[in-house]
Amino acid sequence: MIFKASVTKDGVHPAVWFALGVAEALYSLMQKQLVVTSLKDSHGHRPASLHNQGRAADIRTKNLPLSQVEAVYSRLKAILDPMGFDVVLEHDPPHLHLEYDPKNGENWLKLEVA
Ligand SMILES: [Zn+2]
Repeated sequence: MIFKASVTKDGVHPAVWFALGVAEALYSLMQKQLVVTSLKDSHGHRPASLHNQGRAADIRTKNLPLSQVEAVYSRLKAILDPMGFDVVLEHDPPHLHLEYDPKNGENWLKLEVA
């Protein structure tokens, strides 16, 4: 995992780091470098953005062919959505946005008993 020089890591919620770890594993399986392009930075012009609360991350997709972008998006969504994350494939510019915004008791730390 590497970070664009403009990325601010201070004050990022632990759940976001967990989600980035999942993304890192998926990118690693595809033998691609995970590049984080935004955490708590770059969204001051959008006050409502969860980036400003340290609850969102942007991930580069331009280093992946479209088939891999779609694969990593669907896998990330399947893993993270039930734990309270929203995963969005943004198009302008293309990137993956993920945010921790739990609803209805969703909790990234809540584990079911097997
Ligand atoms: Zn974002």
